[in-house]
Amino acid sequence: MERTDVLIIGSGLAALTTALHLAQQRQVVLLTKKTLQDSASAWAQGGIAAVLADDDSVEAHIRDTLIAGAGLCDEETVRFVVENGHAAIRWLVEMGVPFTADATSSTGFHLTREGGHSTRRIIHAADATGRAVQKTLCTQIRNNPNITLLEHHIAIDLITGDKLGQDDHTCYGVYALDNISGQIKTFAASHTVLTTGGAGKVYLYTTNPDVATGDGIAMGWRAGCRVANMEFIQFHPTCLYHPHAKSFLITEAVRGEGGQLKLHDGTRFMATHDPRAELAPRDIVARAIDFEMKKRGLDSVYLDITHKPAEFILEHFPTIYERCRALGIDITREPIPVVPAAHYTCGGIVTDLAARTDLTGLYAVGEVACTGLHGANRLASNSLLECLVFGHAAAKDILASAGAPPSNIPEWDESRVTDADEEIVLSHNWDELRRFMWDYVGIVRTNKRLARAASRIRLLNEEISEYYRNFRVSNDLIELRNLVLTADLIVRSAQLRRESRGLHFSRDYPDMLPITGNTVLNPKPGRICPGACDANF
Ligand SMILES: Cc1cc2nc3c(=O)[nH]c(=O)nc-3n(C[C@H](O)[C@H](O)[C@H](O)COP(=O)(O)OP(=O)(O)OC[C@H]3O[C@@H](n4cnc5c(N)ncnc54)[C@H](O)[C@@H]3O)c2cc1C
Repeated sequence: MERTDVLIIGSGLAALTTALHLAQQRQVVLLTKKTLQDSASAWAQGGIAAVLADDDSVEAHIRDTLIAGAGLCDEETVRFVVENGHAAIRWLVEMGVPFTADATSSTGFHLTREGGHSTRRIIHAADATGRAVQKTLCTQIRNNPNITLLEHHIAIDLITGDKLGQDDHTCYGVYALDNISGQIKTFAASHTVLTTGGAGKVYLYTTNPDVATGDGIAMGWRAGCRVANMEFIQFHPTCLYHPHAKSFLITEAVRGEGGQLKLHDGTRFMATHDPRAELAPRDIVARAIDFEMKKRGLDSVYLDITHKPAEFILEHFPTIYERCRALGIDITREPIPVVPAAHYTCGGIVTDLAARTDLTGLYAVGEVACTGLHGANRLASNSLLECLVFGHAAAKDILASAGAPPSNIPEWDESRVTDADEEIVLSHNWDELRRFMWDYVGIVRTNKRLARAASRIRLLNEEISEYYRNFRVSNDLIELRNLVLTADLIVRSAQLRRESRGLHFSRDYPDMLPITGNTVLNPKPGRICPGACDANF
C-alpha cells in the first residue's frame, strides 16, 4: 500500500493546478491513466475567458455566462469563478505560459472574442492554448520534488468507509491498475481529488481524447456522491468525418468566413432550419445537421469553402488545410465531410465552492464536477477557467484541514477471478453503446429513443457487471464499466427533464418550462454526509 497526503487522479489542467498549489506544503501523488500530456486540456484551442481588459467588467462576464446557462447557472458560483479569473490568469503568466502578446493592448496580451461573449476577453496562445498551458505546467510538475507522478495508472474505484467496515461517508484513497505491470495497487490518502475530465467517449462521435470515459463521474457515483445535470452534453457542430481522423475539430470560423453546409448532392440546407443559415448558433447548427443525417440516413454532411480563393483558405485555415490534405482532402477544391460531435459534459459530481463532494476527504475539480457554473449550456472558454479557479479553491481547503492517511486498508482481492476468455465482448459492447447513445441520446431526443437506450443499457450493465465479477480487470473493462454507468446517468437525467432547455432538446417537450431546477441524482438517498458539501443543489 502507498500512503500520501493528497492523491490526485488525472493530469489535465484541473489536476496540474491543484497539485502545484498544494506541493509547497504537502506530498502529492498524481496518477494518470496514460501519459502526463494525455488530456482534453492539451487539446483546447480557443483560450481562457477572464476579465482582463479595461473596458470589460465582472458584471458583463457574469451576465454572458448566465445567459448561456439558460436559467440554470448558480449565480454565487458564477460570481466566484469570474471574480477569481484575473488572479488565475496572473498565476499562469507567473508560471511562464507564453500567451500571445499584443503591445497595443493595456493588458499586454491579445484577447479574442468568442460566441456568447459580449466583448474581447479570451486570452490565448495562438490557436493551441491548451498545449502551451499544459506544456508549461507539466514541466513544473516533473521538476517538483513533492509531486510523485505515476503515468499509466488507471483508478478503478474509490476506497470508502464501507471497505473498512465503517459507515462514515469518507474517502480514504483509491485502487488503481498499473497498466504496465498489470498489478493493482492500493493508494491511501487523507485527501483524494478527482480531476478525470468529461465523458465524450460515451458517444460515437466526439472531439474528446480517448481518455474521456467518465471514470471520475462513475467512481464518485459508486462511492455515494450526487451527480447533477448529466443531460446537458454540448455538441460541436463540425468535426471532421474520416475513418483515419479521430476527433479533429473544424473550427466554427470556417462557417464564419463563408463556409456552406451541404448535403451529399451539393444542396444547402441550413436556411430551411434558421434564417441565419450557417451563422446560426452552435446548438441550432448541430441540431440541423443531426436532423438531416437522421432523416436521410447519411453518414455525414459537407462543409464547403471552395468558393473562396485558395490563398484565402491557406492563410486563414492552415492547420485544417494541412490535416485534411494529409487525409487526401484538398479543402480548396473539395468540401469537407463533417459530423457533429460530443464536446463537453456540463454535468458531473455535485461540488461546492471549495470543490468538496458529498464524501469527506473527496474533492472533484474540472469537467468531472458540476459546480453550477455552466447551468444548461457552457459559455465558450469558461471551462479552463473553472479548472483553474476550483483547482486553487480545492488546494486551499485541503491545506486548511488536517488528517493523516489511513494505514489499515485491505488490498484488492483477486482470489475469485480468472483471466478473461473473450475480449470481444468488451469491444462489441463498447461499439454498441457508443452507437446507440449517438442514435438515441444525441442532439435530438424523444421519450421513445430514451426508453430504447435505457433498456439496452440495462442489458449491457448486467453483462458487464458479470464480466467484472468474474474476470481480472483490464483498462478496457474499467473504462467500459464506467461508460455504461455514465450513459445510464445521462439517460436517467434526460428522462427526468420534461422540457427543452439549453443543450437538452426533446421533441416530446419542445418548450421551456417557466419554473425548473437542476436534475440531481442521488445514489444513496438520505445518506448525504452532513457538512461535507454545501453546494446549492
Ligand atoms: C478539442 C477541444 C477543444 C477545447 N477548447 C477549449 C477552449 O478553447 N477553452 C476552454 O475553456 N475549454 C475548451 N475545451 C474544454 C476543456 O478543454 C476541458 O473542459 C478541460 O480541459 C477539462 O480539464 P480537466 O482537467 O477537467 O480534464 P482533462 O483535461 O480531460 O483531464 C482528465 C485527465 O484525467 C485522466 N483520467 C481519466 N480517468 C482516469 C482514471 N480512471 N485514472 C487515472 N486518470 C484518469 C485523463 O487521462 C486526463 O489526464 C476544449 C475541449 C476539447 C476536447
